[in-house]
Amino acid sequence: MQYRRLGSSGLQLSALSFGAWVTFGSQIGRDESRNLVAAAWDNGVNFFDNAEGYAKGRAEQVMGDVIADLRLPRDGFVVSSKVFFGSAEDPAPTQRGLSRKHVTDACHAALKRLRVEYLDLYYCHRPDPETPISETVLAMDTLVRQGKVLYWGTSEWSGAQIAEAVAFARANHLYAPTMEQPQYNLLHRQRVEQEYAPLYADAGLGTTIWSPLASGLLTGKYNDGIATDSRLGQPSLEWLQTAVLGEPAADRLGKVRRFSALAAELGESPAQLAIAWCLRNPNVSSVILGASRVSQLEENLRALDVLERVDAQDWQRIEAIFG
Ligand code: NDP
Repeated sequence: MQYRRLGSSGLQLSALSFGAWVTFGSQIGRDESRNLVAAAWDNGVNFFDNAEGYAKGRAEQVMGDVIADLRLPRDGFVVSSKVFFGSAEDPAPTQRGLSRKHVTDACHAALKRLRVEYLDLYYCHRPDPETPISETVLAMDTLVRQGKVLYWGTSEWSGAQIAEAVAFARANHLYAPTMEQPQYNLLHRQRVEQEYAPLYADAGLGTTIWSPLASGLLTGKYNDGIATDSRLGQPSLEWLQTAVLGEPAADRLGKVRRFSALAAELGESPAQLAIAWCLRNPNVSSVILGASRVSQLEENLRALDVLERVDAQDWQRIEAIFG
């Protein structure tokens, strides 16, 4: 495993980390979740990603249970939560968003579910137009000073919103956001590569990136249809199928088919190649992997080896496919 600094902070995250979205508390059972965390840990993964909204809090419960069961040392792993969507089936107005109240209550609830005394990373899961950014920065600063959170950050905020939070924090001697959690993969790259570019140097922003395989699309598993035991085959995730495969994304499948053919020519797994491509970006602090079974995770964790095998010319051929 390779370890990278989270932006300009001193925290060393495994370059490949592991997240619970869709799978924990929902698609897979407790035993498979335990096997996945164990396999990740045994392969050097030290960062486990979660959120209050994942399976309405059940993903955090399962992860907390499994981490305790495996007796992972608290000083050896990093665990995150995210606040915004709420964890209730139908959240009350005070139980969602980024108000001081919800940011505080959601932190306390995540600590209980994950069975830890502090969150290493705590993200604002989306921007909240109903709450001033200053209120959220102040709430996060308080949690850091109380020792309940070590580093706070954002997820899917615009560059301008992150810059506003940083400027407010600096002007008032408060803890500024350390990291952003954006989507980043061969099919979705503008924000990480262009919009956030000034923030890496100016604010020391780190990134923990999500959906490196575009929900599995980049493995090539949807090239010939949608299997019922795959993520996009799940009836409850019809919206995601539309987002990943439907209009206006229809030409994506053509690109992925060409990418799969190139991977075969190079003798590489498309999944490993797509994850390795994310790792080539030095502004990526950690690539968060998702997996519904251990064999997938073990395959994906070998993506670091690909970096040594693929040369500049072949990376250019990959770039040419995606434009
Ligand atoms: P990916 O894009 O890597 O998709 C993972 C899924 O793809 C797996 O669950 C599996 O689904 C399939 N897959 C993975 N590897 C393989 C393989 N080798 N062969 C075949 N199929 C494979 O990542 P996620 O979308 O899961 O995102 C990763 C993490 O990022 C999440 O768990 C979460 O922690 C975080 N995240 C954060 C978001 C945010 O808003 N901040 C949003 C989304 C994710 P299956 O077997 O079911 O087909």
